[in-house]
Amino acid sequence: MVEVVSSRAHSKRYAHSGVHYTVVDSLMRYAEFLGFGNIHTKIDEKTGLKAIIAIHNLSRGPAIGGCRMIAYKTIDKAFEDSLRLAHMMSFKAAINNLPHGGAKAVLIKPRVIKDREAYFEKFGEFVNELGGRYITAVDSGTNISDMDIIARRTPFVTCTTQSGIDSDPSPLTALGVRRAIQAAVKFKLGRDSLEGIHVAIQGAGHVGYYLAKELHALGARMTVTDVDTKTLERCIDDFHVAVCLPEQIYDVEADVFAPCALGAILNLDTIKRLRVPIVAGSANNQLAHHHYGALLHERGILYAPDFLINAGGLIQVAVIYDHGDIQKAINQINDIYNTVTDIFERSKRENIATNVIAEKIARDRLKA
Ligand code: NAD
Repeated sequence: MVEVVSSRAHSKRYAHSGVHYTVVDSLMRYAEFLGFGNIHTKIDEKTGLKAIIAIHNLSRGPAIGGCRMIAYKTIDKAFEDSLRLAHMMSFKAAINNLPHGGAKAVLIKPRVIKDREAYFEKFGEFVNELGGRYITAVDSGTNISDMDIIARRTPFVTCTTQSGIDSDPSPLTALGVRRAIQAAVKFKLGRDSLEGIHVAIQGAGHVGYYLAKELHALGARMTVTDVDTKTLERCIDDFHVAVCLPEQIYDVEADVFAPCALGAILNLDTIKRLRVPIVAGSANNQLAHHHYGALLHERGILYAPDFLINAGGLIQVAVIYDHGDIQKAINQINDIYNTVTDIFERSKRENIATNVIAEKIARDRLKA
């Protein structure tokens, strides 16, 4: 039996198979389980920079992923976030055939940043030290002017003013989700057009709003819900959608359910209630458990794997970094239609849940 208990105040004891680990042990085991990779840290007292760059995989090319700055309560939470998110980026990049691995930078936001320029220049130096193995981009808490500052110290940065990338990835994320909905409607309902197709959207925030816009333009009708009434009103005014209470969205009889709010919303209770033949939305980690993909499959509900169809923002950033061509990025996002159709066909042929197939393809590509 191994017993390692740190004296640091924030360290916890985890009981696992009768063995106790410190937080660091647990995080290292989590990293190993996810198949990392490299994890780099930088602490700079002068600027207040406390940064983690988690590189999940480099087998397909340099790792790419946003740089988020959040006021984490504990450093272990920041580490956990960096690992979870970098792993997801690898899967998104691999399934969409991008020549990149996944990574994430997490900056633990200080109470006060005395000099934002010095702070991001220091972070730029950190990125540069990694010699191009990691390419950074905008994420929650950072913006295009931060990327411009980083670019003074490293070429391994995108989303700068010069790149021409919009800091809001939601319109292109919504485009990818709309293409997946079109593919699912064709595959499951045999319909080439979205005219008259009824989509129930959970969450009318950044992606949900643009998805409603895309669907409205193609003649779909929608029932939308949100916990924020102002957000909902904008959708009613702009696209004449029907609305329902947040809890009722799972019971709406429609052609498609599009989760665009929260993760883990597909669980034993909600899957039983669904009255739709298709689930396709932008939310990350929609399945509360990996096995629930099989439950949807058994119920005859076609599930478009979230990490495949919500990668529009990543595709935009990666393709523009590699080729500087927005049209090429849009073409590749449009191609989500074909990628997800291949998975639907294989799922039918092999009688295996779509999420299992998508994860296997991504995992195999990362190993190759
Ligand atoms: P957002 O915060 O702008 O929108 C989420 C909306 O959901 C908000 O309007 C919020 O009020 C609403 N909401 C929260 N709880 C709800 C509930 N219980 N029922 C109904 N509505 C609820 O976020 P976003 O950027 O639109 O992202 C939506 C989802 O898509 C998230 O899971 C995100 O991780 C994922 N995603 C977003 C992008 C992107 O480009 N923004 C890319 C990939 C994945």
